[in-house]
Amino acid sequence: MLKSRLERLITNSRGSTRRYVRDLRAGQWLDSPASQADQDRRLSALLLHAAQHVPYYRETLAKAGVCESPGRVLVGRFAQIPLLDKATVRARFRDLTSDDLSTRTWHYDSTGGSTGEPVRLVHDRDYADWGRALFIVGNGIACRRPDERKLHLWGSVADLTGQETVRARLGQWMRNEVWLNSFRMTPDLMHSYVDLMNRYRPDHLIGYVESIAELATYIERDGLTVHSPKTVATAAGCLQSHMRELIGRVFQAEVFDQYGSREVAGIGTECARHEGLHVPVQAALVEVLREDGTPAEPGETGRIVVTSLVNYAMPLIRYDIGDLGAWAEAPCSCGRVWPLLRSVTGRISDTFVTADGTLVAGEYFNYVFYLQDWVEKFQVIQESTRQIRARIVRRRDVPVAGDAETAGLEEIVHKVRLALGDDCHVAFEFVDQIEPSASGKYRFTVSKVHERDQARL
Ligand SMILES: [Zn+2]
Repeated sequence: MLKSRLERLITNSRGSTRRYVRDLRAGQWLDSPASQADQDRRLSALLLHAAQHVPYYRETLAKAGVCESPGRVLVGRFAQIPLLDKATVRARFRDLTSDDLSTRTWHYDSTGGSTGEPVRLVHDRDYADWGRALFIVGNGIACRRPDERKLHLWGSVADLTGQETVRARLGQWMRNEVWLNSFRMTPDLMHSYVDLMNRYRPDHLIGYVESIAELATYIERDGLTVHSPKTVATAAGCLQSHMRELIGRVFQAEVFDQYGSREVAGIGTECARHEGLHVPVQAALVEVLREDGTPAEPGETGRIVVTSLVNYAMPLIRYDIGDLGAWAEAPCSCGRVWPLLRSVTGRISDTFVTADGTLVAGEYFNYVFYLQDWVEKFQVIQESTRQIRARIVRRRDVPVAGDAETAGLEEIVHKVRLALGDDCHVAFEFVDQIEPSASGKYRFTVSKVHERDQARL
């Protein structure tokens, strides 16, 4: 009671979150023309802002014929805007930030992205308000109520280094959440997680897809009894069908997928019909494109290109997020107008395993690399329990990284050892490019150790 009142108080006191929650709740049930008109209006406002305040877009939008005269944009010419890739975000970082930052409350955010390419971004307060609203509405769509207990299996660097803040813990208590670290899971820890789950009896388990799948494998292999929550929600990775089946079987729960990234929060949420991921058109405009740039047909896999409609501090327009996906062939039977992504692929990471059986989530390496500005792209390969090979593509627009690179390499070794042990050797290999795997999916972590383990089972 006290908790939900406190949470309401905080939600209400924070910027525009309440209004955005209302927009999203109403927006999902609009009819198709009204939904399209709503999105066009938001897109038009963003394009106008970008044309007036963002140097990169002043130039790009004029060239694309979107903004031929000041104060007027042509949404119909949207598809003429060139795609934005990560290399351009890094190279044109200053030009991509809005010139009115002094009037905004903003902060830097870094991301490993979904493809092992670190990117630094600027997010403003409004983006954070939208993020909270998407979180609240997303919870509702995936059948999670605010007063229900949630157990999060999520990566925490602060936990590994003992820097978890009191504020973070207070927030978790208020939201009825318990957080367990999934970056580093030993057999003992996993056992204690299962014990905790049996005592805490959460209504919902939420976490990194690979970590939840690892925990499920462990539970099944050791024949443990585990509390069955109402739902399990997976994020930060590709929920492959065999994983969905494993997780559903072990936890005896309804499994919900969700899709988002740090660049653009809350891109897709699965509803109780489980027919795909709904895209909230008030916050994000998603395109699925063929290699030649034309729109893919429903059911046809293409590149996922996202325009965030809610970050004016650093607009990302037609941003190639590095994932592949396909639109569903039919609208969702739930009746929501929000478009439906049938599948998202392209983001696969392996879990690493140490000699004593500790599991280290592949996602951890995003945190190892994401502040290294001189790194264009990376891939981390676990050759043996004590041998890591880090393949790095250097940024071409930073000719001599020098000291920053030396310090960066030391920091990488330090962070790798924090998770994998002090005796872990890290070999660096500088390459011109990192090829996707045979299936076309990019794997930013590859474990030869765990693959062998799995092959034996
Ligand atoms: Zn639905």
